[in-house]
Amino acid sequence: MRSQKIIGASRVFICDEGFCILKDGGVLYESLDYAQSGDLQSAKILAVGDYENLTRTYPNAQKEFWHNGVLLPTLVNAHIHFEFSNNATNFVYGDFGQWLDSVIAKRDDVLSDITKSVSQAIDSQLRSGVGLVGAISSYGYDMEALRKSALRVVYFCEAMGSNPSAIDTLFSNFKARLYQSMEYKNTRFIPAVALHSPYSLHHIYAKYVLQEAKKLQTPISAHFLESQHEQEWLCHGSGYFYNFFAHTFGVPNPKPFYTIQSFLEQFVG
Ligand SMILES: [Zn+2]
Repeated sequence: MRSQKIIGASRVFICDEGFCILKDGGVLYESLDYAQSGDLQSAKILAVGDYENLTRTYPNAQKEFWHNGVLLPTLVNAHIHFEFSNNATNFVYGDFGQWLDSVIAKRDDVLSDITKSVSQAIDSQLRSGVGLVGAISSYGYDMEALRKSALRVVYFCEAMGSNPSAIDTLFSNFKARLYQSMEYKNTRFIPAVALHSPYSLHHIYAKYVLQEAKKLQTPISAHFLESQHEQEWLCHGSGYFYNFFAHTFGVPNPKPFYTIQSFLEQFVG
């Protein structure tokens, strides 16, 4: 059901070109309450201005005013992994290589019992004033919780995998997640595609994934050059990642899939 509401506060940040701050300002918006399906629908801002003026001009609107309150537009968290929110303190932090080794060592436990931590992480974003997230999803385990949440979500289905013999399986799993997210597409839930880092993504798999993104016209995100180790690997084929593939995964004579340039060139067009 549509209804008009005015929310006011003693200071209202407008975020217009002049970054104006209104004293005793208000925002009139049209809210579409929960549809029968349970989906959250978008609310639209109709007017911004002096609170008293707005309440006089729109006498039928519901109103509330926060004395000593500050009304701000929401923040954007452009990159967050809800599926890993159970692991804020479980790993070794500081050096990327030591961190990745500790992730690999504990990889079987990384996703255990994440339902609660995903919902806590969503609450924590909302309580921090975040209204929009770029959610990088490696497995799709956060899809239901996010699409039902009050957050506006750009939902990045992530592709990761460097073993050429596993590409077909990985790609069909990726497509299943992506097409499931397309079913949920609306103004608050925007399906998208993420490539994992150049060290962990086979170039053929990346090509397939980018073709899907192009076909569906989705936004794209990528992890890229997160560490000195990754730069050394892409520029010289040596260092931490050489040992990572040769010793941790037993790949004989490993080589990077890309140069810095060739990774970026995938996104042309
Ligand atoms: Zn990330």
